[in-house]
Amino acid sequence: MTKALSNPHLPFGDQRSAPWYGKSILTVKQFSQDDLKYIFGVAHEMREMVERVGTFDLLKGKILVNLFYEPSTRTSASFTAAMERLGGSVIPINEVKYSSVAKGESLPDTIRSLECYSDVIVLRHPEVGASALAAQYARKPIINAGDGIGEHPTQALLDLFTIIEEKGNVDGLTITMLGDLKNGRTVHSLSRLLSLYDVKLNFVSPEILRLPGEIISELEDKGIPVQEYALLDKAISESDVLYVTRVQKERFEDPQDYENVKGTYIINSQSLASAREDLILMHPLPRVGEISMELDDDPRAAYFRQMEYGMYVRMALLAMVLGKA
Ligand code: ASP
Repeated sequence: MTKALSNPHLPFGDQRSAPWYGKSILTVKQFSQDDLKYIFGVAHEMREMVERVGTFDLLKGKILVNLFYEPSTRTSASFTAAMERLGGSVIPINEVKYSSVAKGESLPDTIRSLECYSDVIVLRHPEVGASALAAQYARKPIINAGDGIGEHPTQALLDLFTIIEEKGNVDGLTITMLGDLKNGRTVHSLSRLLSLYDVKLNFVSPEILRLPGEIISELEDKGIPVQEYALLDKAISESDVLYVTRVQKERFEDPQDYENVKGTYIINSQSLASAREDLILMHPLPRVGEISMELDDDPRAAYFRQMEYGMYVRMALLAMVLGKA
C-alpha cells in the first residue's frame, strides 16, 4: 500500500491525490507502521475537532451506505456518527431481508446498485472474503466492517488506537487475548496488526477455540513470541493488555459445543488479583457474561473508552478514502 506519510499535511484540504483517496479498506495486511501513524494522527485531529466544535463540514454532500448483512450495534452506529459529525449523510441498510437481497440479488449487483447513490460503502457480511469480492466490482471504496470469521480491520485499528492512547506506546507490551480466538475476527485482525510491533502475544482459549494455526504461523514468521494457554492465571501477571472476547454462538455448527464452552472464562476482580495496576482491560463488545459488571468502575476497564476511540478512527478512515485527509 502507498505510504500515507508521504503526504506531510494532516487534514483538511481537498486532496484528490491523497494516497488513500478511493482506496478500499479490506484487511489489516494493507497497513504499514507508517500508515498507522498517519491514520492515528488524523484520528487525533478528529477527536480535537469533535471536542471543539462537535460537527463540521469536511464531508458535506458525501453519502455513505451502511450495508449490514449481520447484526451490529457499535460498528454501524459509529460509522453513522462518524459520517454525520463530518457533515455527510448515511443510507442505512441494516435489515437486508427488506432489501432486494431477500429476492436473491447477488452481492456484486447490490454493491453496483448502491454505489450509484453513494460515495463509500461500509459492508458487513457473514462470508469470509465478501468485502474483497465487493471491492472487485465496486468503483467506490468498500470498507470491511467484518467478513464472517475473517477480519474486522476497522475494529483492529480502533483497538490499536486505544492501546496507544491508554499505554502511550505499543513496543515492549505483552498483550493477552482471551475467549473465542477461532471465530473472533477482531482477534484475527488485531494480532496481525500488532505483529508490526515489538510485542509478546499470549492466547488463552478452550482447546476447540484456539487461534487458527495459519495466523499463529504468520505471527511466528514475523518473529513475534507467541504462547497459548488454556487458563488465564498463567498469563495474567505479565500482561499489559487483556483483550477479552465473547464465545461466538452464531458460528457454531453444533449447539452442544457452544454450551460446553460458553462459560469457560468470567473475568472479575478475582481474576485480576495478580494483574498489573496499569493493565488495561479491553473487549470489542458485545459482552455476554465474560466480563463481570463489577469491573466496570475499575479504572483498568477500557472497553467503554475503546468504543469512543472507534468513532474518531472511523472519521479518519472516511476522510481518507474520500480524499479529504
Ligand atoms: N462486535 C465484534 C464483531 O463484530 C465482536 C463480536 O461480535 O463479538 O466482530
